[in-house]
Amino acid sequence: MPECIRALRGRMAAAAARAGRNVDSITLLAVSKGQPAEQIRAAAAAGVTDIGESYLAEALGKLEALGDLPLTWHFIGRLQANKTRQVAERFAWVHGLDRLKIAERLSAQRPYHAPPLNVCLQVNLAGEATKGGVPAPEVPALACAVAALPRLVLRGLMCIPPGETDPARQHEWFAGLRALRDSLNAGGLRLDTLSMGMSGDFEAAIQQGATIVRIGTALFGPRK
Ligand SMILES: *Cc1c(COP(=O)(O)O)cnc(C)c1O
Repeated sequence: MPECIRALRGRMAAAAARAGRNVDSITLLAVSKGQPAEQIRAAAAAGVTDIGESYLAEALGKLEALGDLPLTWHFIGRLQANKTRQVAERFAWVHGLDRLKIAERLSAQRPYHAPPLNVCLQVNLAGEATKGGVPAPEVPALACAVAALPRLVLRGLMCIPPGETDPARQHEWFAGLRALRDSLNAGGLRLDTLSMGMSGDFEAAIQQGATIVRIGTALFGPRK
């Protein structure tokens, strides 16, 4: 695993250099769904600071087992209304927000002693029925409503585009998310985050401005 992380960081740095960007402006979010807590511990020992989990029950067990580590936990899965409380209490980030009702619950349930919860709106760029996310035309209204909630900080946008092997097509999806973020900022919001790029397409995402790449298999190997 330390070799995987070194190789991954090298690829991230090369992609950043091609785009004239500083690799330090890009967070490696290690996606550990399907991986045991020991794998996360090993990744932390190799310098990983941010962990992404998709399933709440699985994540809670790992949070418990790794409570001694100074990790930043990101919830990246689909969030049901009846599970918001534990996410509001235990995580620092939520990436898959796509409904105002969920955002309102997270804001109301965020403990008063914790800093505001960082959130990204998930955008369904291709209108895929099997994936979560807001259609692009609905993003501005939802963004304004979420930005007004007191215990959330709207940090940016997230996407899971169709799996493309052609880098040119990958670039198009990510450029679309960046353009949407830029237009929201032109309208007065202050979004500093583009959560985009996974094992198969993170280099294109970095070239298009990703600030968080969410990497699972390229770091931990295949999921069990
Ligand atoms: C599983 C997952 C990832 C990581 O995918 P890999 O292809 O294994 O890198 C990233 N983002 C989300 C939302 C995921 O569910």
